[in-house]
Amino acid sequence: MPHPSRRSMLAGLAVAPLLLRRAAAAPVEVVVVGAGVAGLAAAMELARRRIGFRLLEARSRIGGRAWTESRSLGVPFDRGCTWLEAAGHNPFVTILRGRGHRLLREGPERLWLDGRWAGGAERAALAAAQDRLDRVIAAAGRAGRDVAVGVLWETTDRFARIAGAIAGPLEAGVELDRLSALEVWNQPGGGEFLVEGGLGAALAGWGAAVPVELDTAVTRIASIRGGVRVETDRGALEAAAAIVTASPGVLAAGGLRFEPPLAEPWASAIRNVAMGGFEKIALAFDRPVLGRASSWTLYGQEGPAGEPFTFLVRPFGQEVAIAFVGGALSAELLGAGEGAAIAWALDRLAAVLGTTVRSGFARGTATRWQIDPWTRGAYSAAIPGHWADRARLAEPIDGRIFLAGEATEPELCTVVQGALASGRRAARQVARLVRGRR
Ligand SMILES: Cc1cc2nc3c(=O)[nH]c(=O)nc-3n(C[C@H](O)[C@H](O)[C@H](O)COP(=O)(O)OP(=O)(O)OC[C@H]3O[C@@H](n4cnc5c(N)ncnc54)[C@H](O)[C@@H]3O)c2cc1C
Repeated sequence: MPHPSRRSMLAGLAVAPLLLRRAAAAPVEVVVVGAGVAGLAAAMELARRRIGFRLLEARSRIGGRAWTESRSLGVPFDRGCTWLEAAGHNPFVTILRGRGHRLLREGPERLWLDGRWAGGAERAALAAAQDRLDRVIAAAGRAGRDVAVGVLWETTDRFARIAGAIAGPLEAGVELDRLSALEVWNQPGGGEFLVEGGLGAALAGWGAAVPVELDTAVTRIASIRGGVRVETDRGALEAAAAIVTASPGVLAAGGLRFEPPLAEPWASAIRNVAMGGFEKIALAFDRPVLGRASSWTLYGQEGPAGEPFTFLVRPFGQEVAIAFVGGALSAELLGAGEGAAIAWALDRLAAVLGTTVRSGFARGTATRWQIDPWTRGAYSAAIPGHWADRARLAEPIDGRIFLAGEATEPELCTVVQGALASGRRAARQVARLVRGRR
């Protein structure tokens, strides 16, 4: 583990562990629900402002969708987030570098078509299709048209189809008819970094000093005179306000209920900022069968109408390949079971890299975010026509309940830096309320 220097403490935590412990031991003014990136960021900001809080987490670990584990493959595997995206504007780049983590630009992208590596002309045709798609989305975005990308984009041509699959299921976790052009246009672009040892582990290190009550599921938040009563499977507590970072998927499924039930516009906004489906199928090998290049991306398609697929191969030189599946295919493979998902990924990889891949295969694992009761999806994707509902989610409810999490950030949704911004924003909103009462 890297040892944070004094400078990195300032950059990364921006709040001393002592302040965190004091705020968590002080009379409770705010209950924070969920110890993912948003909840940890909210707690840090509350501590910095010397506001007493309790942070409750249903799982036995912090991090939420930021989660690295080494048990399944024998090497660190990010089951949730992997890349620091839009790296030029991503505060976690500075935070994690300051904590001593090594960040790596991803290796090259290679394209496999119909049983062979694609040539220069085909790679150029895909790049041109991606540029065309970007321009189509930008034109809709600039005109403020919140329409489905599928309405704007014809996928009859093979390269248009691959470009659409990358922008839709493989990045956003939804098919193009469920992808809002306005939402995509509003996201920052730019390069991305991988984090050695896993992004989830690095973020867990960043949040490790925050006092959290684990294995504590919040079942109900009731408005009472002077604030909220937060009921959990381990008892209840009262506070002036609650910051709720559970995903819209969890809230829509009733994983946490409100009394009185949420009114408009929040009730419909939770349904309209629905979760997308995106899963990973990771394969580990017990001998070198993946070649020598590190951290490169494979895009492939068998037949012009075939389903495009993608793998991250040998991240940081580990003998591992990770398939990413999104949208309809991810739900189908989830339904088929882990064994079938692993076989699907192994078949595709063996078709590209040869049958030695099969003999070297040691073990695999597949994620299940869509049926995880504490997430119910991978990340949010506003239904076309409802991008503005993200900002509605961030409006205080009855002056005492504040929703946070990636889904509540219109311009930074889906990503860890959006979760960070949302937690800080909710803590600032709460601070105004609490200060007014003191
Ligand atoms: C497969 C996958 C790949 C991804 N790839 C990337 C990527 O490469 N780059 C990137 O930036 N982002 C990526 N993301 C998205 C990123 O992980 C999320 O945007 C971010 O982690 C969300 O943080 P959050 O705090 O908003 O939500 P969460 O991490 O979901 O935190 C919410 C917390 O609330 C808890 N909770 C829920 N209900 C209750 C309850 N009733 N009581 C108590 N606790 C509760 C949950 O257990 C969870 O810990 C990916 C996500 C997935 C799933």
